[in-house]
Amino acid sequence: MKILLTGGAGYIGSHTTVELIKAGHSVVVIDNLSNSSEDVIKRVEQITNAEIPFYKLDLRDNLSCVFSEHAFDACIHFAGLKAVGESVSLPLRYYDNNLVSTLNLIKTLEAHNCKNIIFSSSATVYGTPAEIPITEQCPKGICTNPYGWTKSIIEQILTDLYKADTSWNVIILRYFNPVGAHQSGLIGEAPKGIPNNLIPYITQVASGRLDKLHIFGNDYETPDGTGIRDYIHVVDLARGHVAALTAIKNGLSIYNLGTGRGYSVLEMVKTFEKVNSVKVPYIIEGRRAGDIGICYSDPRKAMRELAWRADYGLEEMCRDSWNWEQNSRSVHV
Ligand code: NAD
Ligand code: UDP
Repeated sequence: MKILLTGGAGYIGSHTTVELIKAGHSVVVIDNLSNSSEDVIKRVEQITNAEIPFYKLDLRDNLSCVFSEHAFDACIHFAGLKAVGESVSLPLRYYDNNLVSTLNLIKTLEAHNCKNIIFSSSATVYGTPAEIPITEQCPKGICTNPYGWTKSIIEQILTDLYKADTSWNVIILRYFNPVGAHQSGLIGEAPKGIPNNLIPYITQVASGRLDKLHIFGNDYETPDGTGIRDYIHVVDLARGHVAALTAIKNGLSIYNLGTGRGYSVLEMVKTFEKVNSVKVPYIIEGRRAGDIGICYSDPRKAMRELAWRADYGLEEMCRDSWNWEQNSRSVHV
């Protein structure tokens, strides 16, 4: 299939480009590079040995130059701003970027008769989940920040679109916690400034770029008191998109992409130290506003219907994150 990837220069998009090309698809990327660099595309070309048509474009702008040159079978829509804290201080920037982009994209797809779309959503739409492990039947909840609301609203827009015109095929993928990097060490997550997420923070502490990890709370109702999340290797996540393409003719579907296994912050720290033979100094602090204690998926629907499951374990996630951290100093951005 010929796939349009929005946000394809970003963390998950770049890994997905690699897996799509490996699976025999062809890919065209649109990205405004607001949180990535064109160099990522070159490194993906190096990994795949394929040429990737790339358009540096903002999705809120006129996209006809892309559609006049290509006819797409499907679109995977990754592009969006994703920093939770920033979304609280700059809500209009988030609503404008994420919602206007999506509306413009959908209208353009429709005008060019490409009615197959896979959307990057997040477990954040469950809010404080009504059940653990979280199935797709779990009701959506109250989001704690504008970023989360943009995901929730876009899910609603896509659902309404499908209800109004069932010739659309929509797959909503709710990611749990993507971590790790491609084994080549050429692509990975490159947060700007001080990282918000756990693994990028840990890698920067291990490398000495940051002083120590601040663990947000050890008074949750978990075995060691620290928060539990469902970390998933980004390559497994990328393969979930390849699997989703096989189901893109089935109307509207929602899938959790996670491993179904939760790990605490302390387990992450200990495993990272052991696998990579490094030290990660930390201090325990109070809970972070908006955090929940436990969040992990029931991924069986994706296993059943997409014949997909996550293969990599925590050790590979920690190893590849560290490999990327070390390599990115020489190749990176
Ligand atoms: P990322 O920031 O690395 O990639 C997103 C890409 O979109 C960037 O390259 C950015 O330049 C581009 N972009 C943003 N706004 C754009 C616009 N208006 N026009 C064109 N390009 C634009 O993020 P990621 O981690 O790869 O996430 C991909 C998607 O998955 C996002 O929608 C994100 O919200 C979602 N998601 C990510 C996580 C996570 O933990 N990384 C978890 C759940 C969901
Ligand atoms: N966390 C932490 N210190 C950090 C970053 C995160 O203790 O510097 C904890 C956080 O409280 C949560 C887990 O690590 O329990 C995962 O947080 P992250 O921000 O990576 O993902 P999310 O909260 O979005 O699931």
